[in-house]
Amino acid sequence: MLDYVSDKLQDETRQGEAFSPFANDLNQYKKRFYIESYGCAMNFSDSEIVASILNKEGYGATSNIEEADLIFINTCSIREKAEQTVRKRLSEFKKFKKEKKGLLVGVLGCMAERLKLKLLEEEKLVDIVVGPDAYRSLPELVVEAEGGQKAVNVLLSRDETYADISPVRIDSNGVSAFVSIMRGCNNMCSFCVVPFTRGRERSRDADSILNECKDLFEKGFKEVTLLGQNVDSYYYVPEYSKGDHVIPITFAQLLESVANISPELRVRFSTSHPKDITEEVLHTMARYENICKYIHLPVQSGSSRILQLMNRTYTREWYMAKVERIREIIPDCGISSDFIAGFCTETNDDHLETLSIMEFSRYDFSYMFFYSERPGTLAERRYKDDIPAEVKKKRLQEIVELQNRLSMESNKKDVGKTFKVLIEGDSKKNDKEWKGRNSQNKVIVFPKEEFELSKGDYVQVHVIDCTQATLFGNIIN
Ligand code: SF4
Repeated sequence: MLDYVSDKLQDETRQGEAFSPFANDLNQYKKRFYIESYGCAMNFSDSEIVASILNKEGYGATSNIEEADLIFINTCSIREKAEQTVRKRLSEFKKFKKEKKGLLVGVLGCMAERLKLKLLEEEKLVDIVVGPDAYRSLPELVVEAEGGQKAVNVLLSRDETYADISPVRIDSNGVSAFVSIMRGCNNMCSFCVVPFTRGRERSRDADSILNECKDLFEKGFKEVTLLGQNVDSYYYVPEYSKGDHVIPITFAQLLESVANISPELRVRFSTSHPKDITEEVLHTMARYENICKYIHLPVQSGSSRILQLMNRTYTREWYMAKVERIREIIPDCGISSDFIAGFCTETNDDHLETLSIMEFSRYDFSYMFFYSERPGTLAERRYKDDIPAEVKKKRLQEIVELQNRLSMESNKKDVGKTFKVLIEGDSKKNDKEWKGRNSQNKVIVFPKEEFELSKGDYVQVHVIDCTQATLFGNIIN
């Protein structure tokens, strides 16, 4: 689930996940690091880059915090609650620091960027503070901190994309991987802290993206998700085309190139800003069976007045026309969204417009939150956070209830249909069942029966039942 008020995926089940990607004997490494990640998919992807940087310098990862010499926490600033979670976690690290002399604690990511030195002052146990564009300097910062200094690098960059760093995969299922294609964001949604914590938008070298995707496919991965705060504004000018004959690579072209790696490799992407997703992208999606028919298209509010205050740069009508266009070009496309209930000055009529845009768009799924003001954002500077908490909560509740109904209706429509499903692994509740996803990103659970299948295989599944969150089916022989 998404736990934020911006356009990035956040999986609730992964919050606080620690990882240990190296199966090798840890003793070969000079030191061991433990890294725990919070926030959006971008942060989890960054933790893989951090792991790769540290690993090259002789540090081995461990998922056991007690054996770590370095503890890192990759943080999220998007909501107050996310920051509170991290603060709480930091206080829990105190006991490890007491027990192990020389243990270093580092804060990475958006909170590091946002709070910088304040973090060192307030959280006495923190030794290292590193912003999202400064991970290359981590090994030197560790050395600095080992010498007793507090080590900080929160410089934002205009061109850092970590293009040449091959991320160490968290490898939670060995089937799906995130591939970062750009960093930062040039939009200035008034509620969002991302432009301040992750800096200006920059697109990663297209060849390095393609090579990473090919490499993943060769290693057995069957699905890549191209990641960025606003993937549709991907724009890369290759070295060879600079000068008089600039031939930029757009997101649609990048998507097509990745899809062409193999029809066996599924391609997803996240997140799309409604103003930037082009017809070219939609037609590319329609042309390729292996580009998944699913778009996360955050609307945030159904009221044009609120959208303007949010600086989303589209109106209600414009957004609705975009949804219609998606349904025309890709009739079976799954669409999900984000909502913020109770943004500054939101009236009940504005809220009713949000409910009605939900009915219109028939979202399969949504990430829903009430507004929480973030320091430093345009909204904090310009508007009063004037909607009482109980009103925010009530409106959010209505949004959640409506989404639950829409999700149920959407899933019921799938009963009786057959889908191609990519198997991701055993279902959570029963190891005699597989769990996978269809192209529309819906989770499908089905019995393994006598079929010789493994995770990473594609299989046709006939849907026989559903809940609001899951489809249930049987394998079609
Ligand atoms: S500013 Fe960028 S990251 Fe934040 S919500 Fe807007 S598009 Fe998304």
